[in-house]
Amino acid sequence: MFNKILIANRGEIAVRIIRACREMGITSVAICSDVDKDALHAQLADETICIGPAKAKDSYLNMERVLSAAVAADVDAIHPGFGFLSENTKFVKMCEECGITFIGPDALCISKMGDKAEARKTMIKANVPVVPGSEGALYDKDEAKKCADSIGYPVIIKAVSGGGGKGMRIVQDEKNFEHLFETAQTESVNAFSDDAMYIEKYIKNCRHIEFQILADKYGNVVHLGERDCSIQRRHQKMIEETPSKVVDAELRKKMGRDAIKAAKASNYYSAGTVEFIMDEDNNYYFIEMNTRVQVEHPITEMVTGIDIIKEMINIAAGKELPFVQKDIKLRGHSIECRINAEDPDNGFRPMPGTATNIHFPGGIGVRVDSALYNGYKIPVNYDSMIAKIIVHADNRENAVNKMKSALGELIVEGMKTNIDYLYDIVTGEDYINGNVNSINKKLAEDTLV
Ligand code: ADP
Repeated sequence: MFNKILIANRGEIAVRIIRACREMGITSVAICSDVDKDALHAQLADETICIGPAKAKDSYLNMERVLSAAVAADVDAIHPGFGFLSENTKFVKMCEECGITFIGPDALCISKMGDKAEARKTMIKANVPVVPGSEGALYDKDEAKKCADSIGYPVIIKAVSGGGGKGMRIVQDEKNFEHLFETAQTESVNAFSDDAMYIEKYIKNCRHIEFQILADKYGNVVHLGERDCSIQRRHQKMIEETPSKVVDAELRKKMGRDAIKAAKASNYYSAGTVEFIMDEDNNYYFIEMNTRVQVEHPITEMVTGIDIIKEMINIAAGKELPFVQKDIKLRGHSIECRINAEDPDNGFRPMPGTATNIHFPGGIGVRVDSALYNGYKIPVNYDSMIAKIIVHADNRENAVNKMKSALGELIVEGMKTNIDYLYDIVTGEDYINGNVNSINKKLAEDTLV
């Protein structure tokens, strides 16, 4: 087992990983930027190294600086968390060259899945259903238009290197296609320095159903059930739950098998997520595989009792999975709400500030993953997510009631947040009845103000 791990991240996920290291008797090393010296992760780790200025490209995204810190601290491994360098193949290779284990899959696997057009091809070959769409990458708007015409509208234009909903446009009919292709492509070039695009049939009123995978280096793969992440704003998840209201035991078995097939087709190891969208008739299609831990991993931990971060560390250290599929038991229902420092009355504009008064909910089945504390000044430079409220109960009704109670108790003063907005969603009839489309419609309308 590793003696020392560097956590190449910040915020709640860095805190989450530091806690796992501590429980496993592993020394944790945090990195931070200038503005993060007082951040919780920087204070909580056994050692902390300041690696540069606030701008992510000069600190958390700067591979040389992250690796210099790792070498100076003499760590055995690096956990990348999510975002930042977690899906960067160059970084994975650099870790290898420095003799440091990257806690995640290998570089080839990340690049295969990171290219979403290539990932589609891999899945088609493995007989995993994909959304009808273009065969490979598209660069030219005329060529792309021909492809969209043959698929039939509506279509969705996506960036091959896409993530976080960037570089994506829905096209209802052919007359807007060229313009929307160009704006999506420009967005992709700006965000990912890549002009490669692809097209899928747009599935109306779809649900987002993803499967958590754990795989070791010896070909053993299990799935830990699904997460329903259909409530989204700008294609970004807001509330997640497991099990999904629309997945029964039989469908779970079928989708789980396909998720495992997807992982095996890419020789995957570590924790990963196979994402599907599902239409109104419960037909499902692979959309992408995320080769890292996800924001919403805690709800799976709550229903399985498996610590996903610890398993990632064990797998990276060369241990075999300690369970097989039939050992995985899904118990009860879990929901996560993402708390953001943003103003829902103002199109959800990010609103960082200084936390003047914080009170977190507690009690049986309530978990708070956060890096907030009283007096903490949130830097403007990073993501606006400040906490995750996770609840677990024996069934959906009780989990919803627990979430209502937890959100009602939660206090974050000193900045605008989406807490009241989330409270309104989870106490509304649409949420209780699982009408995700009307919730998403309202979210889209409120984004435009
Ligand atoms: P990203 O990697 O940027 O998050 P994804 O491919 O994972 O992009 O898609 C994000 C979300 O966009 C999905 O969860 C779903 O809500 C929506 N979406 C993606 N593809 C389609 C599609 N073909 N039809 C309808 N909605 C889609």
